[in-house]
Amino acid sequence: MPVHLLQEEMSSSYTTTTTITAPPSKMLQNEGGKLEKTLVHLEEEIRPEMKDDIYDPTYKDKEGPRPKTEYVWRNIILMFLLHLGALYGIILFPTGQFYTWLWVFFYYMMSALGITAGAHRLWSHRTYKARLPLRVFLIICNTMAFQNDVYEWARDHRAHHKFSETDADPHNSRRGFFFSHVGWLLVRKHPAVKEKGSLLDLSDLKAEKVVMFQRKYYKPAILLMCFIVPTLVPWYFWGETFQHSLFLATLLRYTMVLNVTWLVNSAAHLYGYRPYDKNISPRENILVSLGAVGEGFHNYHHSFPYDYSTSEYRWHVNFTTFFIDCMAALGLAYDRKKVSKAAIQARIKRTGDGSYKSG
Ligand SMILES: [Zn+2]
Ligand SMILES: [Zn+2]
Repeated sequence: MPVHLLQEEMSSSYTTTTTITAPPSKMLQNEGGKLEKTLVHLEEEIRPEMKDDIYDPTYKDKEGPRPKTEYVWRNIILMFLLHLGALYGIILFPTGQFYTWLWVFFYYMMSALGITAGAHRLWSHRTYKARLPLRVFLIICNTMAFQNDVYEWARDHRAHHKFSETDADPHNSRRGFFFSHVGWLLVRKHPAVKEKGSLLDLSDLKAEKVVMFQRKYYKPAILLMCFIVPTLVPWYFWGETFQHSLFLATLLRYTMVLNVTWLVNSAAHLYGYRPYDKNISPRENILVSLGAVGEGFHNYHHSFPYDYSTSEYRWHVNFTTFFIDCMAALGLAYDRKKVSKAAIQARIKRTGDGSYKSG
């Protein structure tokens, strides 16, 4: 009887990872879906405070004509100018100073973590818990990335999971690559997004002072952390030209973080295998994982949104998990949720596309 399969497979050095323990042996006789359902049910109970990021298959698009697309010209113009600036940044890149390159890389990684470890895995999905110093650090990193405040980001993201691929999904990938990539930020939200989004339970975010503080001071905070600080540091501390500082560390870096995040919504919903669930469109895309520091295992992530690694694996092309584990070693992160191998295998067997390679 393969009880060992059902036991926690994580290294014992992870002190506070929550996985389900071995279920009673009679459950092993159950086959496929029934066993998996029990396992997943147990796992969902590990995170009782969060339910609104679980896919709701009962929600369907309304019949009838689609509302007219309303363009938001201010956003279109700003986004166009930002990308022009980033292109110029690419041209200037080879003539930048070495320390400026390091700074661009550092600021890119910090901004990215503010999204992946912060807005995504901590605040949208509550896949682990973080102590105050880490939450303060992540909210600062998140502000560097300027992708709307955490409250709004998490609301949109929970809707993306719960009402995935419908009109209530803010970046519904059924509307094409461009829409799910950036187009959704350039037009007025579909009425279904507002309607269903307003019904989501966001009480955990409203109750968190760090999140509400960011929301209150968001405009001056992004001005400082996304634009002023990254520009002034290279110019002031190692005499980089103002032009290089602005176009490399600020415009190019900001645009890159935006685009890799958007690739999770566009490319990782279109290109790749679906080893865990072939009935949903999110896919496993290693290139997206590389750029988005671990967020490209998207078929897995939509199948098990409560897993803190957003992947079956831990440090495999997943800098964010490495970061969270380091924070856990320091005692700043705890209660990391990980789906058991047994539940994963049962799901692969039941709904996978057959591309899963074991071993
Ligand atoms: Zn997610
Ligand atoms: Zn997605």
